[in-house]
Amino acid sequence: MQDAKLTVKSHTAHRSVIALSDRVTVGGDDLLMIGGPCSVESLEQMETIATRLGNTTIQALRGGVYKPRTSPYAFQGLGEAGLAILDRIRRLYSIPVITEVMAIHQIEAIAAHADVLQIGSRNMQNFDLLKAVGQVDKPVVLKRGLAATIQEFIMAAEYIMSHGNSNVILCERGIRSFDSYTRNVLDLGAVVALKQLTHLPVIVDPSHAAGKRELVPDLARAAIAAGADGLMIECHPVPEESVSDARQALSLEDMAALVDSLHPIATAIGRRIPTVQETREPVLF
Ligand code: PEP
Ligand code: MN
Repeated sequence: MQDAKLTVKSHTAHRSVIALSDRVTVGGDDLLMIGGPCSVESLEQMETIATRLGNTTIQALRGGVYKPRTSPYAFQGLGEAGLAILDRIRRLYSIPVITEVMAIHQIEAIAAHADVLQIGSRNMQNFDLLKAVGQVDKPVVLKRGLAATIQEFIMAAEYIMSHGNSNVILCERGIRSFDSYTRNVLDLGAVVALKQLTHLPVIVDPSHAAGKRELVPDLARAAIAAGADGLMIECHPVPEESVSDARQALSLEDMAALVDSLHPIATAIGRRIPTVQETREPVLF
């Protein structure tokens, strides 16, 4: 890959294992499962999700509090109040949380309250933001731009790494094409290529790729079979009532069933999904 330096594999077996918390990693033999709503809506919503997913093998929770919405009139996220909810949830349920950072001025607060920072598709080439998260001591999930080439995606990761943060997790989330039946086209070829070209973990978000909940489980299974290191999937206690991305949200029951269905695929390709006991610290209160 032209110009790439820090993402490049030094030998075929070279792969980076990144820690999200003391117990949760991505990039090794263990597959990472991240679930949660598109947007954090309330403490009750996040408590319901954390409780219901607490006995599944979901190892981290997602939830946006600063939302990149197409319309300025759409819900923009709970902001700092949402961050406080995420912080409470991660402590109460001892589970790492991931949330999107849209602007440099949000980084300090987000890094103080979340375990993993997400750079959304729309900001994949916001180079000042990439440089700034490069100076943070927290892992970054870098989502592929809506129409970014594999080269551009890799160079975005190089921006973060060359500014000091080597904990970059690549996330394929679908790219734009001509067919509006699916929201985007899930590019599993890119997943295979990124695993060959870089030593970084590559996870897949089938929710934003599909845009329709009924497509998500099969795409998720295909992603794991193709060699993805994990999944990030949107789910909600009442999917149809999600304030954002309702059409693609899974119910919590479907989410639990989906992660269960991945075990035989993981085994077939020499991977595993860690048990709840392995990834959760005993809850203190
Ligand atoms: C999200 O994860 O909710 C999101 C906005 O994703 P993307 O940046 O991939 O569109
Ligand atoms: Mn979303």
